[in-house]
Amino acid sequence: MRPYNQVTEADLRFFRETMPGRVFSGEEISSDYDHDEMTEYGHFPPEAVLQALTTEEVSRVLAYCNERRIPVTPRGAGTGLCGGCVPIQGGIVLSTEKMKQVKEVDTRNMTATVEPGVLLLEFPQALEGTGLFYPPDPGEKTATMGGNAMTNAGGMRAVRYGVTRDYILGMEIVLASGEVLRLGGKNVKTSSGYSLINLMIGSEGTLGFLTELTVKLVPEPKVNLSVLLPFDDLDSCIGAVPQILNCGCDPTAVEFMEREVISCAETYLGKQFPDTSASAYLLVRLDGASRETLQPALDRLTDTALALGAGDVLLADTDERKESIWNARGAFLEAIKGSTPTMDECDVVVPRDRIPEYLRQVLAISWEERVRIRSFGHAGDGNLHVYVCRDELAEDEWKKRVAQVMDRLYAEAGKLQGGISGEHGIGHAKRGFLRENLGEKQIELMRGIKQVFDPNGILNPGKVFEGD
Ligand SMILES: Cc1cc2nc3c(=O)[nH]c(=O)nc-3n(C[C@H](O)[C@H](O)[C@H](O)COP(=O)(O)OP(=O)(O)OC[C@H]3O[C@@H](n4cnc5c(N)ncnc54)[C@H](O)[C@@H]3O)c2cc1C
Repeated sequence: MRPYNQVTEADLRFFRETMPGRVFSGEEISSDYDHDEMTEYGHFPPEAVLQALTTEEVSRVLAYCNERRIPVTPRGAGTGLCGGCVPIQGGIVLSTEKMKQVKEVDTRNMTATVEPGVLLLEFPQALEGTGLFYPPDPGEKTATMGGNAMTNAGGMRAVRYGVTRDYILGMEIVLASGEVLRLGGKNVKTSSGYSLINLMIGSEGTLGFLTELTVKLVPEPKVNLSVLLPFDDLDSCIGAVPQILNCGCDPTAVEFMEREVISCAETYLGKQFPDTSASAYLLVRLDGASRETLQPALDRLTDTALALGAGDVLLADTDERKESIWNARGAFLEAIKGSTPTMDECDVVVPRDRIPEYLRQVLAISWEERVRIRSFGHAGDGNLHVYVCRDELAEDEWKKRVAQVMDRLYAEAGKLQGGISGEHGIGHAKRGFLRENLGEKQIELMRGIKQVFDPNGILNPGKVFEGD
């Protein structure tokens, strides 16, 4: 751990002068700021919380903290799942919750420029009437667009459209020194030196503070269909994914779900899922210009799925039916969380054709370690969300067992050439596993990059690879 300074009264005076009415210390700080969505990873109260409004303020505060060696933890909405936005080494939390302007929607270049605190659920309003849309679709719509950029968030539509990284064209970044950088812009391609913008995306606030984002928009598909494919067992369900992706139906989303997880969601939402016949399902979404143009894709999907053992092809083409299926899918995380006093999660990604193998290992681990494990996820891009549930286990036993289970889950992903996070990031909770997964040389290169951007290590210390 580096030698950092604590926030003093003089520091608070400087912060209050810079951001009048938006600096909180001591008892004024809401306990919301000491954790993200995974309270399981601990509570770390900040010494002060600052709610930034402008780039100039961020620049002044960072230059000051850099000089004073005060840790700065950037924070969006705090919906992260790996403790990324919590100040594990003290110092200040610098929040974007008030930076909420959509600055421009440029329909000719098909771009939008936003401040980082715009929420995913707010952004579509700014695009109304333009015929354009922003495809990244992570499950948590109260997350900020800045948080999505800094974690390279994925989501349901990644199969067809890609992830957040694929939509970021430009960024305004404040470096630890307080200098303001513009990376990229509205150009749709570049071959001009190292891609610093790509280094920033997914850097979890360890390399710079994002104050503005320019994203690419695409024409909005006019029609979508959701298709539920029931299978007798998980193996044939997941085993069907590579051929479905390859059958020419060009799916937007391919999600898998097991009966047990659906039951959790039914209890949580108090609503029944439209089908109860099968033990595993694929949920496929198709997007297109009209119902007619989607028909050939639907036919291909139907033929392929039935040939691969799907018991039926259940078409959801009314808003009500679509909503009931996707609402259940959207509630899985919260539903599993609600079914047990504590849980841990892993967000591994494996090559798509190895998902069945990985899930077989998950089952074996669950059985051997005698813990309940539930999983669901983005089958179409090999990204699985695996939840280890504490249930009735006593504290000591839970700690011992969950540590062992997580080690094994990540080790199995590594054996299949998988990665330890497909979309949630590393934060402080997963950094030991990152080292295991990537090896010493890659960690050393990352350390070198961190040193260049943030020589005093004030930006989000203890995250991604530091301090393990
Ligand atoms: C129910 C649920 C479903 C979810 N589904 C998905 C999903 O489908 N796909 C997915 O990818 N994630 C998902 N998530 C995880 C989470 O929503 C994402 O990680 C999201 O990107 C976090 O955004 P945030 O604004 O909450 O960021 P925070 O949690 O506040 O921060 C996340 C990281 O970004 C950094 N950061 C935030 N803002 C800035 C900034 N302006 N400058 C520099 N660094 C910054 C923080 O320091 C931290 O390291 C889900 C979470 C929940 C609770």
